[in-house]
Amino acid sequence: MTTLQISHLADRTAVLGPGIRAAIWVRGCPLRCPGCIAPEDLPFEGGHTRDVEDLAGWLAGLPAEITGVTFSGGEPMAQAPALAELVERIRRDRNWSVMSYSGFTIEHLRRHGDPGQRRLLGQLDVLVDGPYRAARHADLRWRGSANQRLHFLTGRHTAPAEDRSAGIELRTDGDGVRWIGVPPIPAFRAGFEDAMRAQGVPLGGEHDHREDHEDTRGDPDVR
Ligand code: SF4
Repeated sequence: MTTLQISHLADRTAVLGPGIRAAIWVRGCPLRCPGCIAPEDLPFEGGHTRDVEDLAGWLAGLPAEITGVTFSGGEPMAQAPALAELVERIRRDRNWSVMSYSGFTIEHLRRHGDPGQRRLLGQLDVLVDGPYRAARHADLRWRGSANQRLHFLTGRHTAPAEDRSAGIELRTDGDGVRWIGVPPIPAFRAGFEDAMRAQGVPLGGEHDHREDHEDTRGDPDVR
């Protein structure tokens, strides 16, 4: 049984890639970018352990308007073999568009990526590469800083006509409000979360990071 350590899922989003997509945020990132936009997802421990087959079943059950899935995190390339297995599994039944974020550049992955990382790279329609750099924050489509690049790796998608943030979505996930997307301004997160707390609105996912799951994979050797 292959498993993924994940933080959370979204069954529908229009702000993380072409069209209407599902999204999976994996848990854990070996990089430590100053001003990381998702610091709560940096540890490999915590979150939820999900079987690949179980996630494939979840995706298969989504409506036909959901034509793609986006991997974010955390660092998807730190769990590349399991994500590659997931992509192979779901594409047996449906022609999914697959997009991933990675803090590693495409050049690094091609030259130094391990077999699992190159396998996942070979399955992607779109890659957003490079770490988020707070000092270079920019209002860009699906990216947060000017060093991050959009790579269209197949003929399936083309560059968006307008290279600006696709916006922010708010979701209620049962345990509170969660935001999805790449903020156009760096202060968005702190301002939003402060405003929610001031109103007594719980923030979704805060409990995720208190859950205690054993990390059985050890630290990935990514450099
Ligand atoms: S690569 Fe992304 S998730 Fe990892 S530390 Fe950098 S900004 Fe955070």
